[in-house]
Amino acid sequence: MSDCFDPRYSGLTPPPRLVSSITEEHSLLGASGAERWATCTPSARLAEKFPDNASSYAKEGRLAHSIGELRLRKQFFPMGPEAFRLTMDVLKGDSYYQSEMDGYVEVYYDLVNQIVHSFSSPPYVALEKKLDYSAWVPEGFGTGDCVIVCGRVLIVIDFKYGKGVPVSAEDNQQMMCYALGAYSAYAWLHDIQEVRTYICQPRLDSISSVTISIQELLAWGEKLKPLALLAWQGMGEYHPGDQCRFCRVAPVCNARTAHYLALEDWNKTVPPILTNADVGKILERAQGIASWVKKLEEYALKECLLGNEIPGWKAVEGRKVRAFTDYDAAVDTLVNAGYDEALFYTRKPSPLTDIEKTLGGRKNFDKLLSSFITIPPGKPALASVEDNRQPITRTDAAEDFAAAESEE
Ligand code: SF4
Repeated sequence: MSDCFDPRYSGLTPPPRLVSSITEEHSLLGASGAERWATCTPSARLAEKFPDNASSYAKEGRLAHSIGELRLRKQFFPMGPEAFRLTMDVLKGDSYYQSEMDGYVEVYYDLVNQIVHSFSSPPYVALEKKLDYSAWVPEGFGTGDCVIVCGRVLIVIDFKYGKGVPVSAEDNQQMMCYALGAYSAYAWLHDIQEVRTYICQPRLDSISSVTISIQELLAWGEKLKPLALLAWQGMGEYHPGDQCRFCRVAPVCNARTAHYLALEDWNKTVPPILTNADVGKILERAQGIASWVKKLEEYALKECLLGNEIPGWKAVEGRKVRAFTDYDAAVDTLVNAGYDEALFYTRKPSPLTDIEKTLGGRKNFDKLLSSFITIPPGKPALASVEDNRQPITRTDAAEDFAAAESEE
């Protein structure tokens, strides 16, 4: 058998399923939570006690994955046109489906194809593959969206449908866990020496990739082992940080509360005016405080609605806003009363992102409209030094801020 082989004849890949092979199975130390449980090891066991309510974003993402998987299955595995059409109809009948999804899925589909066709012989391709990395992490497994193996190269691709923040493949613990699982699955057959990971986030126009040697991956796996063991045992230190955003315990986590409320104990001996160094320290500590308070409010509201007491707080009806029961009928009444209909309808340009949705995604948008697009410089924003954008300076910024303040 040659190093590279065509999946259509390998017999190792599962047959196409009717709708999707995306699994709902979860591992306590799943790859998608690796950033969290490897940083804050007791969080895994603590989070077990809290329900995992899949958000509408997660459901939307799962659907986009199923559409991507179906398209790639048709590309790489035997599937009749009728089976493809019927399955696609089922997926597109889902309440989370929007036509813009097709364009974004296409970016992921194109990336996989581009990588597959970059090899001189057909590589092995697996889709929505359960990747078991339990040799490093107790009962650890996750699902890799696409795994490609060709000779000495192992590639893991992750399709992220979210549009929150761009995620880099660099030092990405989720991708490293997937890569360990893929290495376990295929090392018996291939002399894997190089590992490439890709994160495709089409809604943020971001494709990030990283290449490491197999030695680097395995060395990282060894470092992960003791942390994974602590996480499995529910032991170790709580470490509030960025990863708390994705923790089920976040609204009521005491360690996180202590992290934010410690700001109240700001050293009283500091001079009456904060130095720039103080400002930097405070902002670093306060990062995420607004989203933490929001989560706490959501939690308290839920508790109040359930009839549980949160001392000092209660659930009430929000501000009531008048609304038309039938706008067209109301306008007819106004026209009959002698008003010009044009007074009640506004013609205004649609936001660029809405037009992109209407056109079925970025690809068609660029094809038709790229010559009309300009990207002006973004408004200055404060970011952590770890942010990978270039720092900017503007000598006239002080005047802008003075002008903005005088307008308020
Ligand atoms: S909220 Fe943050 S500090 Fe608390 S358990 Fe979760 S990850 Fe750890």
